[in-house]
Amino acid sequence: MLFRTIKSTTTMLTVVAISLVCAAVVVFSIEEYERLYLETTSSDLDGLSENMANDLVSLIALEPDVFEVTTTLLRLDRYENVKFAVVYDNEWQRINLYFGPLFDPYDFEEDVQLSELQNREFGVSVKDGELIALKLVGDTRLPLGYLLIVNDSVGPLNKSKLTLLKRVLPLVLLVLFIAIVGSLMIQRKLFLPLSRLSRLAQKISQTHDYSLRIDIRGKQEVAELSRDINSMMETISSETEKNSEYTQQLKEQQKTMERLANFDSLTGLPNRQFFMETLRIELAKAKRDKRNLALMYFDLDGFKGINDSFGHEIGDLLLLDVCQRTKTFLREGDLISRLGGDEFLILLHNDPDDIMLFEISERIVNGLSKPFEIQSWEMQIGVSIGIARASDSHFNVSEFISNADIAMYRSKMAGRSTHTVFVPDMMEDNKRRLLVANSISSGIKNDEFTVHYQAKVAPDETVVGYEALIRWHSEQLGFVSPAEFIPIAEQSGKILSITKWVIQQICEELNQLLGLHEGSVVLSVNLSAHDINNASLVDYIRAMFEKYKVDTSCIEFEVTESAYLENFDVANQFLNQIRDMGCSIALDDFGAGYSSLGYLTQIHLNTLKIDKQFVDNLNVSKRSTLVTKTIIEMAKQLNLHICAEGVETREQADFLIANGCHQLQGYLFSKPMSLQDILAS
Ligand code: C2E
Ligand code: CA
Ligand code: CA
Repeated sequence: MLFRTIKSTTTMLTVVAISLVCAAVVVFSIEEYERLYLETTSSDLDGLSENMANDLVSLIALEPDVFEVTTTLLRLDRYENVKFAVVYDNEWQRINLYFGPLFDPYDFEEDVQLSELQNREFGVSVKDGELIALKLVGDTRLPLGYLLIVNDSVGPLNKSKLTLLKRVLPLVLLVLFIAIVGSLMIQRKLFLPLSRLSRLAQKISQTHDYSLRIDIRGKQEVAELSRDINSMMETISSETEKNSEYTQQLKEQQKTMERLANFDSLTGLPNRQFFMETLRIELAKAKRDKRNLALMYFDLDGFKGINDSFGHEIGDLLLLDVCQRTKTFLREGDLISRLGGDEFLILLHNDPDDIMLFEISERIVNGLSKPFEIQSWEMQIGVSIGIARASDSHFNVSEFISNADIAMYRSKMAGRSTHTVFVPDMMEDNKRRLLVANSISSGIKNDEFTVHYQAKVAPDETVVGYEALIRWHSEQLGFVSPAEFIPIAEQSGKILSITKWVIQQICEELNQLLGLHEGSVVLSVNLSAHDINNASLVDYIRAMFEKYKVDTSCIEFEVTESAYLENFDVANQFLNQIRDMGCSIALDDFGAGYSSLGYLTQIHLNTLKIDKQFVDNLNVSKRSTLVTKTIIEMAKQLNLHICAEGVETREQADFLIANGCHQLQGYLFSKPMSLQDILAS
């Protein structure tokens, strides 16, 4: 414990060393004092005994005068240390005896051994703590007697030493005290820089402040140590600074990476990954708390067209505006995320009831159908929404999203800008859709497709054309209607191979069909909206026409309004190339979807096909009759041919003919038939 620190060790050593030195000094001085004391008392005694011996010469020369001798001896009373004195005659017979005041006469006999005395030299000697002075009275040639004085040397010496000690000790203690205190102070001063260093180290370890420095003070070694520590601190603080800069950089990089990983770079909305993670957690929570969750899948209608015709920059700006606007329709706590492209997911907060869901969906559909103004362009866009509830997917993430997607697809099918809530029945449909989509490619490979032809007639019922309609007898699924598999093929990216197959097929069969008629007949081929976005299809068509030496004036392509409207510029570009080949263009299903007449003046059409829906409603609804009349009238003014499809009754035919319809198509005249059947009939 005492030797734990350098300071206590050196302090201890210093105290011990100083004490030892002091003790040594005291011991030596006492010894010296003792020697000096004995020397002086011996010479004093020598002088005294010599004088007395001289004085005794006259007293014992003749007849010893006892009284006089006693008087002489009594002079010794003044010397308190004298034990006793004896005067002998020359025969060593005791003449007189003197006892010192402090001497106990009982000790006397043992003390004086005559024989020993007689052999002793004259003078003063020390023996057993006594100073013994033996003097010859008279002359050596004529000895008269002897004088013996025995002085106590121990008692007085001890007394004297004690007095000396009493006097010296306080001084020694004072010196010791001053020396210890002084050395402690010096040590303190010497160790102060070290304690400061240790305090600094403690402070640094507590505060982690590496900018702290220590004053360079103290002895050379300590100053050097301080300097070294300061330069070490310099290095540490510059290293920590570098480290913290580095850490900061890392943190920022991590943040950026997190942002990149979790947020969509364009809209700043949570991305798919982030949303999925959140959805997974929310689903688990909802399942545990026996709550339901509602998910909205929404997809913009016609966004691709805008992207293609205005460029991606404008497309991006539109997406941003859509985002911004959509957010205003959502409630606090609703989580919107961009899945990619023009698809978004919204996790609705607090399981809204049906009415609330309806309201939110309406708000979004109506809100987004209002025009957007982007860089002075006015743009219109729609949105198809699908809504699913977590309970229908048994709280499974991918099923949940897939259900919302299925419902969204329903909305698209139902004519867009609408919202649909998922019901489990849709699941079965979806399975069927998947099966259909997966069977298309093998269907083409296995020759499961055929083309049927439905005649179009003039008012006088002569055949003026045919519409090629695809048929599919699937080995797996049986007969599948094109009304079912064409939209599925469009969705699953398989429509192009179907279109190519149809084109090749009609090229092969065209001449047989034309051979049946003397006058020129036109064969119409349906194109899907997806086809006219595919520039390579034009090259394929051209190559096929060249290969089969097709008279292009006999070919008409039917495209729907939606194909046109979704991608106006691209559609025009595509169809212009078709027209340049010599083919004509018909607008199919006119009036079924958008029914916007405005753009009709801007596109180059040959024929307008009035949708079956209008034909069905002729003479049923006044309004519909009026609209049909107006359409025919307007088409005539635009110099367009008018074809009415789905004519099933004579009444309808009569009305259409009376109003100036150029062509009629429908079961009333002919159902779609295979080439063999047509040839055979
Ligand atoms: P669409 O182009 O409107 O074809 C007319 C549809 O109406 C045909 O149905 C036809 O059989 C049917 N139809 C004709 N007259 C009548 C009638 O008097 N009464 C009734 N109820 N129906 C009549 P289909 O053949 O089932 O084709 C359905 C749709 O599938 C077509 O509608 C067309 O959009 C699409 N489609 C058919 N073949 C092709 C094809 O080769 N390519 C593409 N892209 N689409 C095709
Ligand atoms: Ca058609
Ligand atoms: Ca049609």
